[in-house]
Amino acid sequence: AAKEGGRDNYKIFQPYMAENVTKSATYERLIKIGLAKQQFHLVYQPKVFRSKDNVIALEALIRWDHPQQGIIPPSEFIPIAEESNLIIQLGEMVINQALTQIREWIDQDLTPVPVAVNVSGKHLISDELVPFIKQQLVLFSIPGSLLEIEITEGVLIEDIESCINVLEELKALDISISIDDFGTGYSSLNYLKRLPLDILKIDQSFVEECHRKDEDTEICATIINLAKNLNLNTIAEGVETEGQLNTLLQLGCEVFQGYYFYKPLAANKISALLTLTNPTDRDENPRLN
Ligand code: C2E
Ligand code: MG
Ligand code: MG
Ligand code: MG
Repeated sequence: AAKEGGRDNYKIFQPYMAENVTKSATYERLIKIGLAKQQFHLVYQPKVFRSKDNVIALEALIRWDHPQQGIIPPSEFIPIAEESNLIIQLGEMVINQALTQIREWIDQDLTPVPVAVNVSGKHLISDELVPFIKQQLVLFSIPGSLLEIEITEGVLIEDIESCINVLEELKALDISISIDDFGTGYSSLNYLKRLPLDILKIDQSFVEECHRKDEDTEICATIINLAKNLNLNTIAEGVETEGQLNTLLQLGCEVFQGYYFYKPLAANKISALLTLTNPTDRDENPRLN
């Protein structure tokens, strides 16, 4: 069913297929096989404070390395996984891989930075997330402060009571919480004050033209001021140009993510961006001089 031409060639999951129960089941089976055969891996996109040299966190983004289709992006299979409990298995695998990676960096004497994982709403309110994270943090002996959770607005509004409970438990583990794609959901400002949040992530659709379209400049300014007033941090996602960056800096946003700084990178490329934990080693390390 792959369409002709370019990027669409690897779209084995067309949206219309999701409406077809049989096809959905087929793709769920493929995801299960993929999980069993370890066809999923993570790439990591840095989050920077003002400039490229200050990498303050990473976001883990899932990729499916399919033997026939090549690399399949998450937009093609996360929606299908979300129709079933597979999203929980995928989510657990992502958390496990991210913590495995953090442990590896620590064991290499690199100073780790917090890693954000995207958690689906269904997983968040499943009752399985918090026990799993607790168990994994102990298993890898990693403090919760090295983990961030990114969630989109939708679920928060649908089931705010369950979300408050889960987020409180995550906060108790020292895990930070970001609202992803902020401003694209049907925002109710009420939930912002009720939920224990740390970061608002300005959606890339507002960043795209923030430097040349008044409405988008105003929306970014509003989100940044709202976050300030509520004592939250902001990060702008999808920053691609210097023009966007300068506008956002002027508006008071200081943390960024986007191709202008870094694309999502393989774990081995990230190592070179982390500093060594022992300062004497650091002086002897040619890569840092
Ligand atoms: P997101 O969490 O909002 O992630 C940002 C997306 O924008 C990523 O796409 C990233 O590669 C892309 N991006 C980053 N910088 C730029 C830029 O400067 N310009 C442009 N045009 N794009 C940029 P990706 O990796 O394809 O992920 C898409 C979405 O899939 C994510 O959106 C997230 O909602 C979901 N996703 C990714 N990994 C996971 C995962 O492990 N679990 C779950 N549940 N969802 C995931
Ligand atoms: Mg995200
Ligand atoms: Mg986002
Ligand atoms: Mg986004």
